[in-house]
Amino acid sequence: MSDNFQKILNVRNLTNSTFVLEIEKNGMIFEPGQHILLGKAGDIHHREYSIYSGVDDPSLEVLVKEVEEGDVSKKLKRLKSNDEVEIQGPLGFFTIEEEFLNGDSSFLFISSGTGISPFHSMVKSIPGLNYKLLHGIRTIDEAYEKDQYDPDRYIACTSRDNNGDFHGRVTDYIKSHDIDKNTHCYLCGNFEMIRDAMDLLEEKGIAQDHLHAEVYF
Ligand SMILES: Cc1cc2nc3c(=O)[nH]c(=O)nc-3n(C[C@H](O)[C@H](O)[C@H](O)COP(=O)(O)OP(=O)(O)OC[C@H]3O[C@@H](n4cnc5c(N)ncnc54)[C@H](O)[C@@H]3O)c2cc1C
Repeated sequence: MSDNFQKILNVRNLTNSTFVLEIEKNGMIFEPGQHILLGKAGDIHHREYSIYSGVDDPSLEVLVKEVEEGDVSKKLKRLKSNDEVEIQGPLGFFTIEEEFLNGDSSFLFISSGTGISPFHSMVKSIPGLNYKLLHGIRTIDEAYEKDQYDPDRYIACTSRDNNGDFHGRVTDYIKSHDIDKNTHCYLCGNFEMIRDAMDLLEEKGIAQDHLHAEVYF
């Protein structure tokens, strides 16, 4: 693990509150699904952010949502190219085990909001991955960079408009669809979504060792 000051290369604003920070990579080696601790250079407050970019991309990217009552995300929102951030990492074990990648494994990725970030990195990093990605969002404008996924594999579950691929929450999608018992299920986002989705997956017969979760808040 390294601890570094690194420059912002670019900021991509995706919505009024959500943005991608492109940061100098400085040779960081990571596994898709890992996160970093990130804060404004010199600030004592840092938070965890999943790595959004692929392992071979030239820069390190994170997808951040500014939380209205938040501290660090608000400061990150104000950053511009050439500003410096402090990074520790990579950290965490929300990764796909090598043995799952052999053979004909299938993966169900279930996310809410910016919880799509580690899956973006996995999809970019692992060619030929047999995945289906459920993205729980309120409205379709939160379908962050959806063009970067195979349209046959990405399912926007919109709870407040009808413009997604499925109208309802990810849990409604799970309730109304069959899921093969051998599917490796990875869940990332807010605690309530993960708890409810895990209960449903267990009811559908998915074994504990096929369930993996990363709770954001
Ligand atoms: C392993 C891990 C990876 C994470 N990866 C990401 C990521 O890729 N992108 C990202 O945007 N966040 C991610 N988070 C959440 C992030 O670490 C911060 O909690 C978030 O940015 C809020 O920090 P803050 O200092 O602005 O707010 P704080 O002052 O820490 O929190 C203010 C309040 O907002 C709540 N909150 C936190 N996040 C959200 C949210 N997204 N929506 C609504 N309320 C929220 C907190 O529970 C708290 O009640 C991750 C968290 C973990 C544990």
